[in-house]
Amino acid sequence: MTPPRPTQIPAEKTGSFEDYLETELDRVRAENRWRFFRPVTGSQGPTVQAAGRELLMLASNNYLGLAGDPRISEAIGEALRTDGTGSGASRHISGSMDRHQELEERLAAFKGTEAAVLYNTGYMANVGIISSLLGPGDAVFSDELNHASIIDGCRLSGAEKEIYRHSDMNDLERRLKKTAARHKLIVTDAVFSMDGDVAKLREIADLSRRYGAWTMVDEAHATGVFGRSGRGLVDHLGLTGKIDIVMGTLGKSLGGFGAFAAGSRRLIDFLINKSRMLIFTTALPPAVCAGVIRALDILESEPDRIARLHRLSARYRDRLVSAGLDICGSVTPIVPVRIGPEDRTLAIAQDLWNEGFFSIAIRPPTVPPGTCRIRTTVMATHTEADLDRAAAAIATACQRHGVIH
Ligand code: PMP
Repeated sequence: MTPPRPTQIPAEKTGSFEDYLETELDRVRAENRWRFFRPVTGSQGPTVQAAGRELLMLASNNYLGLAGDPRISEAIGEALRTDGTGSGASRHISGSMDRHQELEERLAAFKGTEAAVLYNTGYMANVGIISSLLGPGDAVFSDELNHASIIDGCRLSGAEKEIYRHSDMNDLERRLKKTAARHKLIVTDAVFSMDGDVAKLREIADLSRRYGAWTMVDEAHATGVFGRSGRGLVDHLGLTGKIDIVMGTLGKSLGGFGAFAAGSRRLIDFLINKSRMLIFTTALPPAVCAGVIRALDILESEPDRIARLHRLSARYRDRLVSAGLDICGSVTPIVPVRIGPEDRTLAIAQDLWNEGFFSIAIRPPTVPPGTCRIRTTVMATHTEADLDRAAAAIATACQRHGVIH
């Protein structure tokens, strides 16, 4: 879609704020990095209504199809009637409501930790955890492909940043060896959000033990996807109890909204006392917590959803790889198709849109320059036929634009 040209700037506003905005936006347009919202109607199902048409949704992190599950909507409705709409203030101020408490207990049990504390979003959790634990004189070791919220947490902390090459354990060890920092934290996504590959958590846990570093794992895309009943990659790899800080989100597989940190009782007390993203913000609405509690019940009672998600994802990945496409090492329901430059990626996304697929061109700064991609995601509520159709359309569009021959 061509970026819209704005109305002319009124004469009295030139050289002013509006001029500045326009200059910056012109730069974004010139780089082919224009972003805009695409209106959709209805829930985040396998298909969505957009621009008066039905499109196959290939961009949602609603992996298990729980956003829109009527049982969750019912639990939220019930909680709205009993607990109302808002939480009134931060929990330090207006009290910790029953549903906050209950959800935290459920999340701690789910992740196999002593305790857990809720954050309002995954972005806030990452920024809030890292910036409260570390300061100047400390060092944070962060994978180069970690999520932006981890990067921002590192920046805000003021700690020395050691950005190691993606999943390169030799580079991580080299950096751990030479640091003189007081406290060391290794932080990584469990599932990398734009690549769909998984972190080498066993090696990271081992290095942390050898070099006296703390560990933090962001399970945003691993929760509900890996491990027993979706407990996450830490559980899947048998590392429960070996990672100091487990962070997870509630707005992806769990179909709700919010996030949490899980770990020792002391860690959670530390965050309650020191994390500004918890102290200075109004807590999650209780009904949102009720919905996530119901989602956790569903995860426990319907393990087939996760099995189906993996079956569908494996088949879909195979189709794309067989067509000669580069899926960035994905082994998860996040299946990116690497294209390269912005213009070609945009053209392919536009073709797919025209053919009835909702998929997005991912460009810098979300991914490194020159590695633009179409990031697609599989949901347990897709059908094999849906995904076969999507893989065929992607392959054809990539051929048309010279990505494959
Ligand atoms: N971590 C990762 C790895 C993510 O992909 C995201 C969201 N895309 C977040 C954290 C932020 O979570 P939230 O959307 O709840 O703010």
